[in-house]
Amino acid sequence: MITFLSGGTGTPKLIRGMRRHLPDHEISVVVNTAEDVWMSGGFVSPDIDTLIYLFSGLLNTSSWWGQEGDTFITHHELQRLDGGEYIAIGDRDRAVHLLRGEYLKRGMTLTAATAQLCTSLGVRAQILPMADTPVETVVSCSGREIHFQEYWVRHRGALPIEGVRRRWAAPPVATPAVVSAIGAAEAVIIGPSNPITSILPILECRGVPEALEEVPVVAVSPFIGHAPVSGPAAALMRARGLSPDSAATRDLYAGFLDHFIQDSSDPVEVSGAIRMDTLMNHPGVDEALAERILSLVRGG
Ligand code: GDP
Repeated sequence: MITFLSGGTGTPKLIRGMRRHLPDHEISVVVNTAEDVWMSGGFVSPDIDTLIYLFSGLLNTSSWWGQEGDTFITHHELQRLDGGEYIAIGDRDRAVHLLRGEYLKRGMTLTAATAQLCTSLGVRAQILPMADTPVETVVSCSGREIHFQEYWVRHRGALPIEGVRRRWAAPPVATPAVVSAIGAAEAVIIGPSNPITSILPILECRGVPEALEEVPVVAVSPFIGHAPVSGPAAALMRARGLSPDSAATRDLYAGFLDHFIQDSSDPVEVSGAIRMDTLMNHPGVDEALAERILSLVRGG
């Protein structure tokens, strides 16, 4: 089994390639939940949704969120009535959020609710929320703290950010399922996800760093030069006092990392890094990258 640590864009692209080489039941994904938010009565877990939709064949792979061909009738009506729903939630996507919210209100854990949704949608991979207690990434903008979703979706990442931190009632603990998915893995792959908002929340769950020390770990950089391939990772790295590049990313994972992969065209030198073509915007690149990583961990 291969276990991924994932956010909702970069790593899912690599997982799409890995599905060409491994059956879904040999793939586990530990997923960031620090971007989750209640919205219009439903519980949105954006990174989990992307993975559930990827594995069930429903994902809109142009945007890497939501379901392909979804309609937005309810969203437009909510906008007209009240204007408060700042995330464009599709109608079928919303059904998943409403059901997840119902499961949580009935006392199910997020892990159990996710497993139930996976069963309903025929997902054979193991999709595991990093923790079962709420964690939120919040950013400070002009002295005010706002949820990451508000920063990125409502304000389109246009506000200058001074800081980023996690907010919780109790420090998150990795679920038993997460610890065993890491412990049982042939290798763990930290895909090219945003280090600050997607990967660090997982690494901050008690039990995760210790589990990673016991297995081979490969990480893929989301940066080429001093910019991410997409999204707000550069501003977030800077808000943490870090340089937005592969070298700083490698340092964040250094405690348990066996191999670090950066793009062949990345001008930033990271000693010991392995160069591969990681830009998965063309057909076949994801599949080829996944194959090379598999052969690396299998000693090929
Ligand atoms: P989010 O949850 O939507 O923020 O998604 P992730 O954290 O999983 O992924 C966002 C990161 O993916 C960004 O920092 C991008 O730089 C990175 N990314 C997206 N596409 C690619 C790609 O094709 N190659 C690489 N190397 N990184 C990518």
